[in-house]
Amino acid sequence: MSQDEHPGLTREQLDPFAGKSCGPSRQSRDPIAPSDIRSWIDAIGDTNPIYVDDDASMATGRSSVIAPPAMLQVWSMAGLGGTSKSTTQDPRKELFALLDDAGFTSVVATNCEQEYLGDAVPGDWITTSEVIESVSDVKDTGLGRGHFITTVMSFTASPDPLGDGELIGRQRWRLFRFAPKNRGSGGQAGGDSDRPPRPRPAINRDNAFFFEGTLAGELRIQKCDSCGTLRHPPSPACGACQSFDWSTVAMSGRGTIHSFVVNHHPQVPAFDYPLVVALVDLEEGVRFVAEMPDTDREDVAIGLPVEVRYRKQEDDLVMPHFVLAEGSSQ
Ligand SMILES: [Zn+2]
Repeated sequence: MSQDEHPGLTREQLDPFAGKSCGPSRQSRDPIAPSDIRSWIDAIGDTNPIYVDDDASMATGRSSVIAPPAMLQVWSMAGLGGTSKSTTQDPRKELFALLDDAGFTSVVATNCEQEYLGDAVPGDWITTSEVIESVSDVKDTGLGRGHFITTVMSFTASPDPLGDGELIGRQRWRLFRFAPKNRGSGGQAGGDSDRPPRPRPAINRDNAFFFEGTLAGELRIQKCDSCGTLRHPPSPACGACQSFDWSTVAMSGRGTIHSFVVNHHPQVPAFDYPLVVALVDLEEGVRFVAEMPDTDREDVAIGLPVEVRYRKQEDDLVMPHFVLAEGSSQ
């Protein structure tokens, strides 16, 4: 990728978008319903009683149950048919068209921060409004060259659908619009000769041990130094006892298929399809997800024994996958 191909937009082009409202504010389709809260906490596994038990909530100084703060965005979702109500006044359309024309045609959401300022309760109507906070200068990243776009959504709650409402939270949302690294401006993905490489995992200080392990031919899993619980995927703290102290242990690489999916779509050119992806119960008692690229869907079944194998993806990167254990059959 040459910088000349994608020089990026100028401040003169970008600055007029900062501070612009993304169209009129939008109200939730329905007031907050206890049944929606119950569905959400069941799905998430949140057992905090202040969402379902008035007494527990009143013990915290509130007057009734409240909606989980992390549901903020749920109430503002427009639903599957919601695009018909979307506004034609959204300045992001013009911004995205400018970025498309400049070659920044790919998009990835990079981060989302929520700030909780007040409670919403069943019966409240939630109204959202969004503004473009900033558009960055052109940046070079591992994904490619592009611009970061940050928007801020404000949420208000009111028992009256026509009321002004009280500010209960904000959400800062950042997108990266970019020109992918492995495609030049006139390049084409596809065709075996220029098959793009597999995406690299994001390796950081929390998970580097895992990839050091696969390089050494080991499946290393975190073990809490305080209570001994195994955990995967890697995380800084133990979910069972909250200890930050951990070490790693090498798994045998043997397990059984707990569940699996067969991926047909969407297809990423670096992979072969249909692609079996298995959720494996490792015999040490922790679950692990990996593909089974050399296995036909017809041969896979829940409960079958599998074994880990390793494949070199790049000089410094080895990825694990599973194969059916020798002698296993349905
Ligand atoms: Zn622990």
